[in-house]
Amino acid sequence: MRKIICLILAVSALQFASAQSPDKYILLKPDRVFDGEQMHDGWIVLVKNNRIEAAGAMTFKLPAGTQVIELKGKTLLPGLIEGHSHLFLHPYNETSWDDQVLKESRAERTARAVNHAKATLMAGFTTVRDLGTEGAMYDDAGLKKAIEKGVVIGPRMIVATRAIVAKGTYGPKSESPDIDLPQGAEEVAGLEELNKAVRSQIGHGADLIKVYADYRYGPHGEAQPTFSELEMGWIAGMVNSSGRKAVAHAATPEGMKRAANAGFATIEHGDNGTEEVFRLMKEKGVALCPTLAAGNALELYKGWKKGIDPDPERIANKKKTFALALKAGVTICMGGDVGVYTHGDNAIEMELMVEYGMQPIDVLRSSTSINADVFGYASTIGRIKKGLFADIIAVEGDPSVDIKNIRKIKLVIKNGVIYKE
Ligand SMILES: [Zn+2]
Repeated sequence: MRKIICLILAVSALQFASAQSPDKYILLKPDRVFDGEQMHDGWIVLVKNNRIEAAGAMTFKLPAGTQVIELKGKTLLPGLIEGHSHLFLHPYNETSWDDQVLKESRAERTARAVNHAKATLMAGFTTVRDLGTEGAMYDDAGLKKAIEKGVVIGPRMIVATRAIVAKGTYGPKSESPDIDLPQGAEEVAGLEELNKAVRSQIGHGADLIKVYADYRYGPHGEAQPTFSELEMGWIAGMVNSSGRKAVAHAATPEGMKRAANAGFATIEHGDNGTEEVFRLMKEKGVALCPTLAAGNALELYKGWKKGIDPDPERIANKKKTFALALKAGVTICMGGDVGVYTHGDNAIEMELMVEYGMQPIDVLRSSTSINADVFGYASTIGRIKKGLFADIIAVEGDPSVDIKNIRKIKLVIKNGVIYKE
């Protein structure tokens, strides 16, 4: 009995000690701070444990024991948010998508994803919205847990798990009509299966639900809408009432229109959006995640010599429709479909957004505060603001003048922990 009492006393003393462990402060002194919306000269940022304690002019006394980090010549920004990643895929010029889905073991795919997660964080992307494991089931939810537990290092993850496709529309496709191959997403036919897939993915850890609103299954291999208006509305209704966001892969005007009318939060790709569709997206408050870098990579893999050869049709078309979206005032997310190209090279999407007509400061907004707002995470990430998680990076120079500076990462802090200095 006495032993037990001693043990209880010891445990409560330990708890008392940990509750009393001193707060850890870090003061960051860069040349300028981009707070997610505006650039500010003469700002400093104080981090207390895993949160931002203060940002602005230094008008207070520093707590004793504060670690001071001088960042001369550098710009401080909120940790970048990748809006469209696939940590369980690697570049298609290394291994085709079909072979990754069909021939790589789940263990290999997870091993790769662990490397990808680290590369992403070190490139300054402290959060990813990972839009489907492409055949690796719920392993994104598992990887997210492992990162949270500190087993491996990586960004915060907002995960889709398997994603949903209409039966018979997706891939890999079999040579023989007699053979059903494993698919890169969960197949459904009918409202009952749709209902079950949404609820089951949520149950397995999905933070959002991704649906392929169109896909290349037309009689000539062209993209056609997959789900009816009724089905799209059904999906968005269930997902939105769970407090999550519905995300649509869509490249055809009709697929995009159905997603926008149904209440989806974002449309991914949007390659063939028209003026009318973008006006609808603006009106409904649906954001576009343009994934410029995916098309860019696929054309390079086909042998396009950028800067020497003229723009291939896909690129010329993408530049045109992206300009239409900007003109219509559609909210633009930053998400490149990284996985099609190398993880850690996420910044290429930001460079292409500038190349295709956006101002660098707007690209910085898309990559931080706008992504956080659109994805439903504004209360925790995406800005340098008191009370938010201390996800902060520093780069050499000023990326609002030259977006290429976003690659010159000098400091990465996630949740108050310094990963790179
Ligand atoms: Zn994708």
